[in-house]
Amino acid sequence: MDTVAQVEVYGKDREQARRATRAALDEIARLDGLWNPYDPESEISLVNRRAGGEPVPVSRDTVAVLQVALEVARQSGGAFDPTVGPLVRAWGFGEKPRLPSPEEIQRARALVSYQEVILDNTRQTVRLARAGMALDLGAIAKGYAVDRAREILRQHGIRSALIVAGGSVYALGSRPGGKPWRVAVQHPRQEQAILGVIPLTEGAVDTSGDYQRYFEEAGIRYHHLFDPRTGYPARLCQSATVTHPLATWADALATAAFVLGPQAAPPVLAGIPGAAALLVDERGQLRTVGNLAWEAAPRGR
Ligand code: AMP
Ligand code: MG
Repeated sequence: MDTVAQVEVYGKDREQARRATRAALDEIARLDGLWNPYDPESEISLVNRRAGGEPVPVSRDTVAVLQVALEVARQSGGAFDPTVGPLVRAWGFGEKPRLPSPEEIQRARALVSYQEVILDNTRQTVRLARAGMALDLGAIAKGYAVDRAREILRQHGIRSALIVAGGSVYALGSRPGGKPWRVAVQHPRQEQAILGVIPLTEGAVDTSGDYQRYFEEAGIRYHHLFDPRTGYPARLCQSATVTHPLATWADALATAAFVLGPQAAPPVLAGIPGAAALLVDERGQLRTVGNLAWEAAPRGR
């Protein structure tokens, strides 16, 4: 997943905490291997290689993550699309980012189509309808891994922990002492500053931002969050932060909200129980959506 994962566990039994932490990190590493698009043997690579061909048997985790991915794709009208693989490749994210020609972009864009993912729940298979299509779970995998890690910590009897994988965070229970966890939201244009804090007890928060991966050419910032309708980086937000009871959903929805922008995201989020958001528009203006617990940082910090 090309990021850092961190599991912080609190409790009285040091051995139990250690075992739980180890097991949670192992699970994140397992999912990373399953979905690594740069490993030719990963499940995602197998599915992509057989695009346009036969259904490919996959693990339960891949079925489960695709179910949520396709649901968020539908609810967001395709702003979130787990078949952005061809665009990610054309723009060189993952290897060497570069500005593709308009023709390349249009060719890649024409292959982005979540409606042509055929997921068979009972047989546990996936098929991409057309050759050249490619899954990319980059916008949801970290959240799913964080949810799995939380499950494992719970099974080990842990009642207080914080799990972080890139921009995906899960607060298990409360901090030692009973207070909520406090998750800072990064300022999208000032590396050393935060916009504010989300207090969180049992739940997930995730941020997608245009400052995470980008390159500049002729003074224009090209980042890694694509609008599948245009094939170009989405321009309406600097960042989108979403809270939800599940990290899988928070992750997918943060990406969806970023692409949809401050006008279109709120009605989509309103249709999803438990979702709330903080959107930063292209000019840096903040807007909260739904029932967000939010403490803005004092100005100038
Ligand atoms: P995130 O940090 O969760 O927003 O995920 C970013 C990653 O998601 C990118 O690096 C791409 O691999 C992938 N991605 C980019 N645009 C989209 C999109 N519109 N829908 C789904 N995934 C995307
Ligand atoms: Mg995401």
